Amino acid sequence: MKSKYDLIIVGGGPAGSICAKTSAEQGLDVLMIEKRQEIGVPVRCAEGVGKKSLENFIKPDKKWICAEAKGANIYSPDGTCVVMSEEMAGGEVGYVLERKIFDRVLAHRAAKAGAEVMVKTSATGLLRSDGFIKGATIRHMGKKQDIRSDIVIGADGVESKVGRWAGIDTSLKLADIETCVQFLMTNIDLDQEYNEFYLGNEIAPGGYAWLFPKGDDRANVGLGIAGDRSGKTRVYDYLRQFIKRYPKAQILEMVFGGVPVCAPMEKTVENGLILIGDAARYSDPITGGGIANAMKSGKHAGDVSVKAISNGDVSVEGFKEYERLCWEDIGKTNMAMYRVKEIIMKFSDEELNSLAHSLKDIKIEELSATGLLMKLVENNPKLLEALQEFFK
Ligand code: FAD
Repeated sequence: MKSKYDLIIVGGGPAGSICAKTSAEQGLDVLMIEKRQEIGVPVRCAEGVGKKSLENFIKPDKKWICAEAKGANIYSPDGTCVVMSEEMAGGEVGYVLERKIFDRVLAHRAAKAGAEVMVKTSATGLLRSDGFIKGATIRHMGKKQDIRSDIVIGADGVESKVGRWAGIDTSLKLADIETCVQFLMTNIDLDQEYNEFYLGNEIAPGGYAWLFPKGDDRANVGLGIAGDRSGKTRVYDYLRQFIKRYPKAQILEMVFGGVPVCAPMEKTVENGLILIGDAARYSDPITGGGIANAMKSGKHAGDVSVKAISNGDVSVEGFKEYERLCWEDIGKTNMAMYRVKEIIMKFSDEELNSLAHSLKDIKIEELSATGLLMKLVENNPKLLEALQEFFK
């Protein structure tokens, strides 16, 4: 490890690795640190990602794809099933990944592009001088060291400390955190070509339960509830209740984690610092899916860092381009999705059922997005309110 780099990237998830690859292949001297001893482990993800958004970054490979979904079966509280095509079902439907391998492959590609990757290495603070972040204090095998850099990238995920250390407000209100538990289960009888989502205030208040096929007879079976709706029942208990539907299934692995489901942050940069991925709260406010947006923001941060360093301007002003690109690519949609979420969250089970009833006999694959919306509004006038918010 050297004492100075162009870029220090804190966190070796999809956001960090894409940023490291993008910037290293354009000639920057990059260090990516990951606090865990192994990239990609433990997995805190249901591993679903849209096909197109993934293929923008990497050619799909059977080594890290467990299943390919044609679409999603969405169940309303009374069990009515609405079938959606992959394109219509949102950013988590398409491939089901093996993230233990996928994350490692991304880090490997960053290393091949010239980035230095260090595992079991944590950032413990930031270095400052003249109003700029100038590097990070890191700890590796018990040894602390100050490493200088022109830019620090905070890619440290949902629990990001880097943003807070830099003075950026990354706090989330309770309603904007989805608390999740997931079991990798075997002996699950499931159509391997469809992701399943279950809605209902009894099943998952302020969230949903999911089944994502992982090949053979395995599936990621999980459930998330809104942070302000948990009451006395823990999310774990909700999932235990839900899996009673699969009496023969066995648990192979458990995952616990939080997902930000918030409106876009006002500020994601500071002098000498850029936040990306979950650290910048870029996951989808409705589904909580964040892999695709982590990669998109990582790419933008890599490209903008290259320009900023060559222009000699790593100030907030010099990073304006990053915020603009992310707003166009992620923020605009997330803002609209957040407004829709705020309304959908207030729907009663009866209203969710009524939405499903109005769609159940329609071949959604044959409808355009506008056609689908028209059908929904026709049968559910309350949705008009949500749509007006959407187009504000
Ligand atoms: P992460 O993947 O979280 O990577 C951050 C990395 O930073 C971690 O490896 C961490 O160890 C490291 N780190 C943290 N602090 C430090 C430090 N101080 N020093 C060094 N390293 C540090 N998204 C989807 O798209 N599809 C899904 O199906 C899906 N399902 C989910 C299910 C659950 C239960 C949860 C919790 C999340 C799910 N998500 C899903 C969200 C998705 O996992 C994240 O959006 C995605 O991983 C974000 O990528 P990232 O690179 O920003 O952060």
